[in-house]
Amino acid sequence: MKRVEKCLCILLIVLFLFSCSSGILSRDTPLSCPDQKDNHIEETGILDSAEYEKHVEKESEKDTKVSFLATGDNLLHSSLICDASVNAGGKNTLNTEGPFDFMPIYANIAEAVASADLAFINQETPLAGNAYPYKGYPRFNGPFAAGEALIATGFDIVNIATNHMLDVSEGGLEGSITFWENQPVTLIGGYRNRDDFDNIRLVTCNGISIALLAYTTFINYSTSLPEGSAYIVPYAKEETIRRQTALAHKLADVVIVSVHWGKEYKGDSWGETNHFPINSSQQKITDILLSCNVDVLIGHHPHVIQSIEKKQRADGKETLVINSLGNLVSTMECMKNMVGGLFTFDIVRNNKEIRIENVLFIPTITHYNKSYRKITLHYLENYAHEQLKDHGALDSSKRTKEDLVKMVLDNIDTSYLPAYYQNPANYKNS
Ligand SMILES: [Zn+2]
Repeated sequence: MKRVEKCLCILLIVLFLFSCSSGILSRDTPLSCPDQKDNHIEETGILDSAEYEKHVEKESEKDTKVSFLATGDNLLHSSLICDASVNAGGKNTLNTEGPFDFMPIYANIAEAVASADLAFINQETPLAGNAYPYKGYPRFNGPFAAGEALIATGFDIVNIATNHMLDVSEGGLEGSITFWENQPVTLIGGYRNRDDFDNIRLVTCNGISIALLAYTTFINYSTSLPEGSAYIVPYAKEETIRRQTALAHKLADVVIVSVHWGKEYKGDSWGETNHFPINSSQQKITDILLSCNVDVLIGHHPHVIQSIEKKQRADGKETLVINSLGNLVSTMECMKNMVGGLFTFDIVRNNKEIRIENVLFIPTITHYNKSYRKITLHYLENYAHEQLKDHGALDSSKRTKEDLVKMVLDNIDTSYLPAYYQNPANYKNS
């Protein structure tokens, strides 16, 4: 190769390694990594042939890394919309005009979300905007401002395959998809037709390509697509999973699957232990995904946190599984539903080898006061026991902070938790 061509080649390799983009097979939409500014391109200079070969060899031996963060259900009860209206100086109502300010809700986690290379959120409820009335439980619809706040907080990957995806019928699904498609995020779980569903969403970051699949096990019984609709409910059917994971493996270095599944845990019952086991449907889908050699399985919907596991898959490697991320934000009635978390890990690639490292779960709690206002997320370890007295949940006065920490420990292995949770002296009698 001529010297000029070599330099150009090296530059292209470096640019490839340190760039992030997202898109789908035929429609590649460049998207900047949130921390792209932190990556620096080394001065390559002019190398002779032997130096060039050595350089390429050395580059290919280096680890490249993507930090990934996932959070659970962003469950937009009507009180959250009203609170965002008050935050913006408006009335405490579900007015369709706005304005809304959802940013204070996420302020405490914004730094962590923005600093991850890729940040995933499960948008549990439709954001179809003011073409439809805003509503909370049981058939939800929220303003676009709620989605814009997630983007401003730093989320890059949004899942909408949930039991609520048809709460505003086909028009609401179309409105949600159109909104997210026009934002600088990768949307998964919302598909306009069969071809769109099979068009695997890919994100490439720091030279590592990631395929993102999304399924739900059900939608709410009172909702459905009209007969003849081309839109898709991406059900977690075995045939679909096998076909799409095979395709995903051909296209990407890593396959991450989001599944909306499991039993909902509600109510204020509180035992000596509060372990929330997975159900047989979760087990069955997990077994299928393990046989398909997926790298990471991200579960959500039960409204509580469930275990993190490393499970052996068909090819002898491991799949990282979080069975339920819990709620990120909601105004559900009981304390067990207030705890969620930030699930973080690094995807490391060395040549063809992929490793998942540094798995961590950072528990969070949603606070709302007795008037369903001042809705804010906090890291559980920073949340003072005194704040529980002001919490609006039905059973807040019966719980201590130690109870909440113990609930986390009943479900998440301490090896995946921050140092605070390793030492009982930190939370005992608090
Ligand atoms: Zn759900």
